[in-house]
Parts: sequence; C-alpha cells; structure tokens
Amino acid sequence: MPKKLTGIEVYKLLPKTNCGDCNFPTCMAFAMQVAAKKAALEQCPHVSEEAQAALGEAQAPPMRTVQLGSGDTALTIGGETVLFRHEEKFHHPPGVAIRISDSLSDEEIAQRLEEVRNLRFERVGDELQVDLVAVHCDSGDGDRYAQVVSKVKDGADLPLVLQCPDPARLSGALKAAGQRPLLWAADRENWEQMAELSLKHEAPLAVRGDSLEALVDLTGKLKEKGLQDMIIDAGDGQFVERLTRLVKVRRLALQKEFRPLGYPAIAFTTGGSPLEEAAEAIAYVCKYAGVVVMENTAPEAVLSVLTARQNVYTDPQKPNAIEAKLYEVGEVGPESPVLLTTNFALTYFTVAGEVENSRVGAYIVVADTEGLGVLNAYADDKLTAERIVKTVKEQGALDKVNHNKLVIPGLAAMLRMEIQEESGWEVVIGPEDAARIPHFLRNEWRPA
Ligand code: SF4
Repeated sequence: MPKKLTGIEVYKLLPKTNCGDCNFPTCMAFAMQVAAKKAALEQCPHVSEEAQAALGEAQAPPMRTVQLGSGDTALTIGGETVLFRHEEKFHHPPGVAIRISDSLSDEEIAQRLEEVRNLRFERVGDELQVDLVAVHCDSGDGDRYAQVVSKVKDGADLPLVLQCPDPARLSGALKAAGQRPLLWAADRENWEQMAELSLKHEAPLAVRGDSLEALVDLTGKLKEKGLQDMIIDAGDGQFVERLTRLVKVRRLALQKEFRPLGYPAIAFTTGGSPLEEAAEAIAYVCKYAGVVVMENTAPEAVLSVLTARQNVYTDPQKPNAIEAKLYEVGEVGPESPVLLTTNFALTYFTVAGEVENSRVGAYIVVADTEGLGVLNAYADDKLTAERIVKTVKEQGALDKVNHNKLVIPGLAAMLRMEIQEESGWEVVIGPEDAARIPHFLRNEWRPA
C-alpha cells in the first residue's frame, strides 16, 4: 500500500501561488483536501511533472474514475471517496443500462431501441434517462453480433457495454461500437486477449471473478500489462451474495485503500417482474454499483431506479433549490390565483405539478428560503410575513391580477394574520398537502 502523505508534504510540492484555479482559495487548502483524498492532484493545472511523479499513486483517490463512451453522451463513473453520502457526497451517479440480446429479431431490436429512446423523464427540474445499452452476444454468431452492435450504436446513440466474453466476436464488433465502450469481461481464461483488445481500442475493461481473491489476482495482472481503466464485476449468485460482494469491494477500496479493488463496479439484475427488477437495481444503485444493467424497459420500473439514483446522488450539503421568481403555470389571466411557495426544488415542482393537474392556470410566487421546504424555512426564520410581503411585491405578482388574494401553504397558516396586517391583502390558507391543490383550485378558491 502506498505511503500516505500529510497535507504539509503535499503543500511543499505545489506551486504555492494561491491562484485559485483548483477551486480552492489557497494551495494549502487544496493540499489538505488532496491529503484527505477528497480532491485529485489533477485539479491543479500548474502542478509540475516532478511533483506529480513524487506524489504519484500515494495521492491518487482510492477509487479510479472511468469514462465510458465519448462526446455529449459520455458517462463518468467511480471516483467515490466515501461509503455514506452524509460523510461528504457521492460524486458520479451510476449509469443505468438496458440489455439487448443479439438473438432477437431485427424487428424486436428496433422495438427495444424505441423503448430505450422513450425512457426519458423530467423530475424536480432534471432530465432523467437511461445512459447505456448493453449488447449481449447470445446468438453465438460473430457477424450477427457485429451487425447488432452497429444497429444499437446508431439507434440509441448511447455508450455501449459489449457483453461478450469471447475475444474473437468482441474484436469483430469493436469496429462498430464507437469510442470507449465497456468490454465485458476479462476472466481467468481470456484475460490476456481481453487486455490486448482493451489496450488497442482504448476501451475500459470489466474484470470478472467469483471471489475477491480472483478479482485481485486479475486486476493485478492486467495492471502489469498497462491497463488503468477497469470495472469490477463481482460475479454471479443470488441477489444477497452479489450485493454483499459489492459492499466488500467498496469497503476495501475506500476504508483500506486497497488499490487492486479501487475501481467502479458493474452489476447485472437477475430479472423478474418489472418492479422486482427495479427493487434489485435500486439496491445496486445504493450499494455500490457504477453501472447497473437491467432487462425491463417498463417505464415505471426504470423511472423508479432513476428516481432513487437522483435522490441518493444529490449533494446532501446543498439543498436542491430553484430560482426565486414568479412562475406562470398553465394559462394565466387577471382572475388567476396567486400561490406562494418556497424555492426548495421538490416543493416547487410538486406544487407546480399539482397546479398543472388542476388545469387552473396560476401564478406561483417562489420565495428564497435557501432551498428549505415550508416548515423548515418557517422554523429557521427564512419564511416570515415580512419576507413574504417583500417577495410578492418585488415579483409584482398581484399587479398581474384583478384581485388581492394571496394563497399561502397550509403549513404556513400561522403567518396569515401577520401578512394581512402588513400588506392589506386577503390571505387564503391553501392545502397542507399538495395533492389537494387541484380540488382547492377548482372548487374552493375564487377571487372576490
Ligand atoms: S491551482 Fe494549484 S497553484 Fe493554484 S491555488 Fe490551486 S494548488 Fe495552488
């Protein structure tokens, strides 16, 4: 295991200009983060080659960062530094892949590609979608495999996982696979040929072993051959066995800084009904896959997995906030209701979604509560009557309508009298639960 350097030792090798190009205010601050393995040396663009050589592997993050694919659809995985997101944050969300077999007919492949292209969702202001397609060589025919890889590459325009342990068939398909597909997988039989293909095509290589010892042996041999970008496949078995191995690999990599396992991992689901498969895939997203390969394309299953990923990979130290301004939802006019909410993204998008469902156009005043929801913002004095009145006036919400009614969230009902006294507006208490907004807007809210 490489010797760990202290912050001072790292600092001595840095340029000491405090230029800030690494996004840290001083070289010392950066050195402390590098020593704690929370920042990579490459973040300093001015570090000398001598310093790089001196720091070398000792300061490399405990898990390698690997890029799959290229261009706009490239996916970066790995580079994680903590086991639990509350310790810092997770850096690179795992890729979700859909598997397509080359034994399907051309029509079935076209259908699956269409399903993959349609797996796009919007949630809390983010676009969620599938990131990769895994092409599985079930047919046993090298020409067919190359043909299907070409079809999938053109039809999905996503990075590929070439799920084919036969180096001869893989070699034929690589010409059609685009840049940096993930080659799956090197094992104790084929590792030398797979290493050659990986090096020749600059493609990351999955490494497959039935035990941690087998994986360590393989990654060591491949590293000696010059491979850097590897992905761990912790092998077959029941769900619990797979998950346990993924956890062990991550613990050894991060807690023990055990470099032979310091790579992101790939996990394949075992199938089942769409929701059973989604549950399995979500477990792998949480602990600790870098790529999860799924079979089902049922939107409800894939959306569940993408939603879990979005939640787990949101930085827990940065509330997910939207811009505090006046939003128009649906067709608005002088009689439209004016609703107030906070700039916590989940709160806003839930309210906006329910206003859309109501089919009653509305103005939504979004107050800057530094990303806190209604109750937290109230408890932290970030949602006060004074701030609400100031925000509504600044955003000119009531200038756009022919009434003076402001609908406040039910959870902020205690502010009603204070807002009325301060502004002279009529303050209406809206629902506590956003799901009641459609009924409230259609039946209970009316301008005087
Ligand atoms: S970019 Fe390099 S030289 Fe500049 S402050 Fe960061 S560590 Fe120092």
